[in-house]
Amino acid sequence: MPGPGLRVTIWNEHVHEREDAHVAGLYPDGIHGALAAALAQHRPGDEVSFSTLADPDQGLGDDRLDATDVLVWWGHMAQEQVADERAERVRRRVLDGMGLVVLHSGHLAKPFTLLMGTACMLRWREGDDRCVMWAVDPGHPLAAGVPNPLIIPADEMYCEPFGIPAPDELVFVSSYSGGEVLRSGCCFRRGSGRVVYLSPGHETYPVYHQDGVRRLIANAVGWGAAPEGTRPPLDDAVWSPPGWYEA
Ligand code: ZN
Repeated sequence: MPGPGLRVTIWNEHVHEREDAHVAGLYPDGIHGALAAALAQHRPGDEVSFSTLADPDQGLGDDRLDATDVLVWWGHMAQEQVADERAERVRRRVLDGMGLVVLHSGHLAKPFTLLMGTACMLRWREGDDRCVMWAVDPGHPLAAGVPNPLIIPADEMYCEPFGIPAPDELVFVSSYSGGEVLRSGCCFRRGSGRVVYLSPGHETYPVYHQDGVRRLIANAVGWGAAPEGTRPPLDDAVWSPPGWYEA
């Protein structure tokens, strides 16, 4: 697990907080502000910056991405506005080694679905459901210091079937008031990069102010930054004459 000193960019579409007074009350500094506070608490020393959809290049410019070790993503209602070209650039950076931590409704973020290759749909309900998040791999770095189970008093219900590929490492499964379950903490390896999906965090609940959730997000940043080693790009076709490997 890398130590402090990571360059972390928190990308937040930052629409709900500006348009909904209830959400603005929960997150006066934006959801990105709450996520940054989580990192300041649990990963002091990281270099954390924000970007939002309203920024130049939608906050996803090449210079910014090139200077990011781990990108944390919160998006929902405006995710379709993210330009395909920017989403593709995020995908490429992950293949080159950047970590990507996708939160809650980011399961439908363009970079995430591109990296998964599947629709990533799930079932959902906004109904003040209690979420009980169980570590099924309690020794995994993602679970370090997180209460097991982690009980979130109210969050949006997300449940299976969740249209993701089988995670490379499944760390958490959540259950909800109605008995539904979800693979809620999933790790993926893509090229030289790592991707984490964490389900908590509907915008109308104070989920990102809860300490166990904050620790979980900090753990995800640490795991996401761990290098997979340099891997040759797999999408370059290389002409290879007979005997090329013996030359
Ligand atoms: Zn939601």
